[in-house]
Amino acid sequence: MSRVFNFSAGPAALPEAVLRKAGEEILDWHGSGMSVMEMSHRGKEFTAIIEKAEADLRELMQIPDDYSVLFLQGGASSQFAMIPLNLLRGKGKADYINTGSWSKKAISEGKRYCEANVPATAEAENFTWIPKQDQLELDPAAAYCHMTSNNTIFGTEFHYTPDTGDVPLVADMSSDILSRPIDVSKFGMIYAGAQKNIGPSGLTIVIVRNDLVGHAVDWCPTMFDYKTHVDAKSLYNTPPTYGIYIAGLVFEWLKEQGGLEAMAELNQRKANKLYEAIDGSDFYHSPVVPEDRSYMNVPFTLSNPDLDATFLEEAGEKGLVALKGHRSVGGMRASIYNAMPEAGVDALIDFMRDFEKRNA
Ligand SMILES: *Cc1c(COP(=O)(O)O)cnc(C)c1O
Repeated sequence: MSRVFNFSAGPAALPEAVLRKAGEEILDWHGSGMSVMEMSHRGKEFTAIIEKAEADLRELMQIPDDYSVLFLQGGASSQFAMIPLNLLRGKGKADYINTGSWSKKAISEGKRYCEANVPATAEAENFTWIPKQDQLELDPAAAYCHMTSNNTIFGTEFHYTPDTGDVPLVADMSSDILSRPIDVSKFGMIYAGAQKNIGPSGLTIVIVRNDLVGHAVDWCPTMFDYKTHVDAKSLYNTPPTYGIYIAGLVFEWLKEQGGLEAMAELNQRKANKLYEAIDGSDFYHSPVVPEDRSYMNVPFTLSNPDLDATFLEEAGEKGLVALKGHRSVGGMRASIYNAMPEAGVDALIDFMRDFEKRNA
């Protein structure tokens, strides 16, 4: 068996230690004689698993007590609808900062339910930068302000938390949750599909301040009402049990690594050396302004795009896979989430230097 360095944007690499543990436990979880996949979601074994996962996530992110943690399905994309259904609270408009493709999807879904205003957008420059606080034309009467904290496709990231005053800030953190400490109390709601930095696809995590729950429109589908899931502790119906179990193992692993401060340090070190390698050559180019670059997704182009296919092929032969960039940016994209070891980034940089030497 040989494992590659997987730079996929999502579903993405998981920590090898987590996969090994899941492998060891696959036939018999803790003497239960069953796989977690085969257990009742209401039995004592799974109850222990979901409660531990929630407690560890709360500890890692320092989630205040007046927030609920929900383990849902439907992906981040379902949240694009659940947010207006639940958080408009009788108001007719909301703000949506537009920083890329995922913001745009949130906006077009939001428009089905309310006036979705855009306090700032970087679309004219193909989303290569992040609006600063003083560029946000915020509406104090908005029901909420939505942001995408890390733009998986364009490789930009908010390195500050917007101040939206009394308007609840709602953040799609699908691709940078758990990558660094954040102050949860500055947000009304945080959500993330699991498949980038948490666990397998099929699980969506929602962290919502309790005063925002219980105000869904009266025609809201039961499954789309946060209150349903808060009241039932994410067990209204069958939750994605195996995904929750793997996420729980990832949370344990993160605690063993030293928590989010240690992850932030490692993630910055990984990203900085990759950006330095890109900036230090005329052969590679980063489209993103330096101060807004993502620590998680690093898009870069080759000055000669005719070499793209050869680059990808030769990288693959070295066990460096899934580097093809998104079509809206072109070139390459290295996604270097928590689970990407520093050795993987080092191997990529070595390959890039060698490729440049042979092709420049
Ligand atoms: C991947 C991604 C999504 C979509 O997530 P799904 O779980 O597939 O719906 C949304 N937002 C961001 C920022 C993403 O990276």
